[in-house]
Amino acid sequence: LGSAVEIDADEAAVENADEDLLGGLDIETTGDIEVPDRLVDQVIGQDHARDVVKKAAKQRRHVMMIGSPGTGKSMLAKAMSQLLPKEELQDVLVYHNPDDGNEPKIRTVPAGKGEQIVDAHKEEARKRNQMRSFLMWIIIAIIIGYALLIQGSVLLGILAAGVVYLAFRYGSRGNDAMIPNLLVNNANQQVAPFEDATGAHAGALLGDVRHDPFQSGGMETPSHDRVEAGAIHKANKGVLFVDEINTLDIRSQQKLMTAIQEGEFSITGQSERSSGAMVQTEPVPTDFIMVAAGNLDAMENMHPALRSRIKGYGYEVYMDDTIEDDAEMRRKYARFVAQEVEKDGRLPHFTETAVEEVILEARRRSGRKGHLSLKLRDLGGLVRVAGDIARAEDKEFTERGDVLQAKRRSRSIEQQLADNYIERRKDYELTVNEGDVIGRVNGLAVMGEDSGIVLPVMAEVTPSQGPGQVIATGQLQEMAEEAVQNVSAIIKKFSDEDISEKDVHIQFVQAGEGGVDGDSASITVATAVISALEDVPVEQNLAMTGSLSVRGDVLPVGGVTHKIEAAAKSGLDTVIIPKANEQDVMIEDEYKDQIEIIPVSHISEVLEVALAGEPEKDGLVDRLKSITGKALEQREVG
Ligand code: ADP
Repeated sequence: LGSAVEIDADEAAVENADEDLLGGLDIETTGDIEVPDRLVDQVIGQDHARDVVKKAAKQRRHVMMIGSPGTGKSMLAKAMSQLLPKEELQDVLVYHNPDDGNEPKIRTVPAGKGEQIVDAHKEEARKRNQMRSFLMWIIIAIIIGYALLIQGSVLLGILAAGVVYLAFRYGSRGNDAMIPNLLVNNANQQVAPFEDATGAHAGALLGDVRHDPFQSGGMETPSHDRVEAGAIHKANKGVLFVDEINTLDIRSQQKLMTAIQEGEFSITGQSERSSGAMVQTEPVPTDFIMVAAGNLDAMENMHPALRSRIKGYGYEVYMDDTIEDDAEMRRKYARFVAQEVEKDGRLPHFTETAVEEVILEARRRSGRKGHLSLKLRDLGGLVRVAGDIARAEDKEFTERGDVLQAKRRSRSIEQQLADNYIERRKDYELTVNEGDVIGRVNGLAVMGEDSGIVLPVMAEVTPSQGPGQVIATGQLQEMAEEAVQNVSAIIKKFSDEDISEKDVHIQFVQAGEGGVDGDSASITVATAVISALEDVPVEQNLAMTGSLSVRGDVLPVGGVTHKIEAAAKSGLDTVIIPKANEQDVMIEDEYKDQIEIIPVSHISEVLEVALAGEPEKDGLVDRLKSITGKALEQREVG
């Protein structure tokens, strides 16, 4: 009895550690957490990028950010704009050029002045028009008077009055041409501008001049009124952010570079056949800080001159995908939930246990022991879905159950596909999950980024006419050859069979649907081949993943958590994983009782677990162990 009590006490200790999920933060709900005002202080993790952004803002340098989507690149770029001085902001006006209507004039004035100037011009034009119409009516009155009294003809009077009316109307059009067009208005701007030009077409990026259907005859719009600013002009004195920079067409990248170099860029019509293409303004200021972003291949595909421009006059930073999980960081994740709730504005705040569940999910999504995922856009999505669920039920707060439900709902397309796939395979009984079969092993693969599937491998060994061959289905030929080569080195040592004189056929059952990560299937292939070669059956209630070295060591692979979950969903009850991956296992609670996880470090351990049929199996494993004593030791230590 005494010992039972002690065990209970131990369990309590573990629970205490779990309670510290919020890093010692003492809150009832996220409503108790204060959210910092400045965006730069809201950024979680990314310390390096944050320092660079602060420095670059001070020195007015360009920044290139490389990293996964949703890790805070645009957030940091926006934060940077808040750090720039707002005193320098300018308004830009376009004026009619009396000498050449197709070359409108540009004038730059301090922010706020632009509106005043336009208003003054409008007022003046209004007065002038008033004056003119007053004059017009007097003349019309005189004409009508003259026609009626002196000539006695009503018709002549109306005709003459009409001519005068039209003449005045036509004449007054010229008046509007004097009013400048306020191209960039920073009057109400509280901080330096932030322009996101991701995926912008040329006109939106570089400015445009609208087409005028009436190009003459008094109906036309003066060209300066048709000029429109591009993101490069609106971002003047602020930040221009372009994500997926490599997808911007090369001509636009070149022009962007010119704008960066010259600090000004004329606006012209972007579509060649429009009348706007005839118009070209004087240069418009483009003194912005460029924040270009993308993933690693963005660097390779972007215009080399643009890249070197940014690199030469600025910084390049890499964004982190995960961050070390410690108490302080977990407190920040709690604040993250508060931030997302406040940003949305309609979600109920999260209870303490609901926040804990979000943090657990961040851990799980990191795929790395002792880390939290920094793909915070996705995590923010989870927060919103959970909040929406709570809101739909008119709850005061978002609770743990809502987060759990949201997790189920916000599955990625790949996860949905994989689940669907597992269901279908169950229907066709493609996944065998009981009994034992010679040469058939349940392997595991990852589909997309975050979903696992069970992928059975079948091997058959036949005597060869010539030199032995490895024959595999589909694109997996190469990987199968490599896996067989690795086992053949091992087999040579313990088996009487000479595998080089045999043909080995390997079939991946239904591999067509998802990308199979070849390396992680190599212990599966090896096990299937050994089973076929030695005629020893393999247990079918079990799946495995792991890479294999020539010496028989089982090496770590990616995606173990998702793979284990897939095995559990498919009704298997044991899964073999590389020992080195043991710490990456972060499966959901619901699977914990369903499946036993066996970490191994050598192929002999794999066979010991996976093979059925006692006497042959024992003989095989013994032989394997005898050639590599190392494996045995490790298993005993583990
Ligand atoms: P990216 O530009 O890298 O694709 P974003 O900056 O657009 O990602 O991030 C989208 C949203 O996700 C942000 O508005 C913010 O709510 C959240 N987010 C992303 N990264 C972070 C971070 N490091 N800290 C806090 N919130 C973040």
